[in-house]
Amino acid sequence: MAVLAIAELKGDELKKVSKELVSAGRKLSDTVVALLINGSDAHAKELFEAGADVVVKNGTAEYSPQGYANVAAAVAEAKGAKVILVPHSVMGKDFAGRLAVKVGGALAADVVEIKGSADEVEVRKPVYSGKAYANLKIKAPAVVTIRPNSQEVISHSGPETIESSDAAEGDVASRLTEVEAGGGEKIALADASVIVSGGRGIKGPENWPVLQELCDVVGAALGASRAAVDAGWIDHGHQVGQTGKTVSPNCYIACGISGAIQHLAGMGSSKVIVAINKDPEAPIFKVATYGVVDDLFQVVPALTTEFKKVLG
Ligand SMILES: Cc1cc2nc3c(=O)[nH]c(=O)nc-3n(C[C@H](O)[C@H](O)[C@H](O)COP(=O)(O)OP(=O)(O)OC[C@H]3O[C@@H](n4cnc5c(N)ncnc54)[C@H](O)[C@@H]3O)c2cc1C
Repeated sequence: MAVLAIAELKGDELKKVSKELVSAGRKLSDTVVALLINGSDAHAKELFEAGADVVVKNGTAEYSPQGYANVAAAVAEAKGAKVILVPHSVMGKDFAGRLAVKVGGALAADVVEIKGSADEVEVRKPVYSGKAYANLKIKAPAVVTIRPNSQEVISHSGPETIESSDAAEGDVASRLTEVEAGGGEKIALADASVIVSGGRGIKGPENWPVLQELCDVVGAALGASRAAVDAGWIDHGHQVGQTGKTVSPNCYIACGISGAIQHLAGMGSSKVIVAINKDPEAPIFKVATYGVVDDLFQVVPALTTEFKKVLG
């Protein structure tokens, strides 16, 4: 039985999580179908290389949760797919629930590990703000939203079939009329493989350049704790945590962040966590892979200098 993965674009680019979904799909089935809405053949190629056998293109004009759920359900039925993988992104979270209702299946959200088969999936997901993990077995039909950066992207070669679907979005009650760009993240937090985050320990907004310089050198996105956001030092779009963004980068560098449970909820699944904090008792050190007990205003510029030497 096939597995269906819903690809997501950002502007003209295929989001990396789309490739993670088709790669994850191969753990469940030898037939992975990707649904590509408003994408190009170049996007389809990227999906094939990451694990898709079939890419179904659909030209639904604009995003709406009902419309996407209707199209995805129709394509899943046409391809005989009972397990549907969706990015755990703002958009994916928006339509996954509707899609689960539409296909009469269960919904597992914010999954970080997946295995099993296209009849029964086994997933692992953080619960209680990342304090514990739940392992679930779900019989198909099932909709699974997968946390960006949690899955390895494989290199795949095989048949590359592009099909088109005229599945319609149907009656749509709510429409997105406008998106206003926020404060302007240089690199999107959710997709970043390295994140440098600052908390109350950075003392004030005038000190962001200390962290931004390190971001620029290593190609990281800039994150923040809620304390920094609530103080008005930076836009909410940068907030990591329970009431901010959930991230799963390869490396998360926490600077002057104590490590409250609500912050850990958003970054606890990072592969490597580096904590820089002058308080050796700060809870962030309990989850850190590497800890530096020192003043961030000494450590961060020193790191930036060293990375500049290595990376040029
Ligand atoms: C319902 C709810 C939702 C929440 N959601 C979120 C959320 O999404 N994200 C989030 O982050 N928080 C969230 N919070 C808030 C959370 O509980 C903490 O208050 C917040 O994370 C603390 O931010 P902080 O670590 O920057 O500040 P603090 O806890 O004040 O920590 C600052 C740290 O900086 C260190 N420090 C100070 N100066 C230096 C220096 N020069 N060099 C190195 N270290 C230094 C200190 O030792 C300290 O550990 C939420 C709270 C609630 C109740």
